Amino acid sequence: MVAQCLDGRACSQEVEADLTKRIQTCIDRGVTPHIAVIIVGDDPASHVYVGAKIKACERLNLKSTHIELPEQTTQDKLKEIVQELNTDELVHGILIQSPLPKHLDEEELTDLIEPSKDVDGFHPTNLGRLVQGRSDGMLPCTPSGVMRLLDWAGIETRGKSAVVIGRSQNVGMPQALLLTARGADATVTIAHSKTENIPEICKSADIIVAAVGRPEMVKPDWVKQGAIVVDVGVNRVDDSSRERGWRLAGDVAPEVNDVASWLSPVPGGVGPMTVAMLMENTVRSAENKLI
Ligand code: NAP
Repeated sequence: MVAQCLDGRACSQEVEADLTKRIQTCIDRGVTPHIAVIIVGDDPASHVYVGAKIKACERLNLKSTHIELPEQTTQDKLKEIVQELNTDELVHGILIQSPLPKHLDEEELTDLIEPSKDVDGFHPTNLGRLVQGRSDGMLPCTPSGVMRLLDWAGIETRGKSAVVIGRSQNVGMPQALLLTARGADATVTIAHSKTENIPEICKSADIIVAAVGRPEMVKPDWVKQGAIVVDVGVNRVDDSSRERGWRLAGDVAPEVNDVASWLSPVPGGVGPMTVAMLMENTVRSAENKLI
């Protein structure tokens, strides 16, 4: 069996085509959707991620303000910036690029963001709504992007058994909640670093979502024939055959392609969906301002 591609690029293009129309409607009605992206320090990967988000804004004609701050920025300064953005009527989304330098308290800053502008979906109010099974909050972008990708491929999750490997606040845990929510109706097992027998647990699953950060951890013999495998991982691994000396690898071994019925590539799978969902959250926030 050769897996079909869970093509995040193609799916995100469809999402963007729809967003372009919604953004134009907002602009025609006097509201230009606007996201403020805050980045602190020089972490190269973070700058690449922010660059991709800003590019998406440009493609979609969505206004972005890029706030670049030095490594030594204080917590108080960041709190002041977030509070100003919270009260700015012309800003609909606030994103603080993670990770922040070690001396900063990321959680305190997330808590400070006005929930209706929390386009990352990490504020306790938005995560709490998710636990309550409500869809009126901001959903975290990566797991909601995975759900959209499954839907795009026509994959039915109802009644299926799913394993989410990883229980982080931004990916694994909300992913498990979304898969198990009414409407999606999967039966979910969450695996983490203390879970025993992960290969056996995965082998019984109809759907596997790997969000670990360990290159090519999920092996073909962990995967049931015909299972659906979503690879969230983004890992940089040494590769002397490449001119730059490294390549990107997911959390899933490439050979899983011979066992799964669907597999998302890295890059080009979940990554573009994360950006598309961020754009969608910002547009939703702006639409809420239309009279
Ligand atoms: P994270 O916060 O480091 O969480 C990793 C999770 O994996 C934790 O729950 C950890 O368990 C679990 N884990 C670690 N080692 C394990 C092992 N040997 N067996 C089973 N579970 C293990 O990472 P994250 O933010 O969720 O991100 C996960 C991956 O997704 C990373 O590669 C990241 O770069 C990628 N990512 C991609 C996107 C995208 O848009 N494509 C977005 C976000 C993240 P414990 O809780 O027990 O420590």
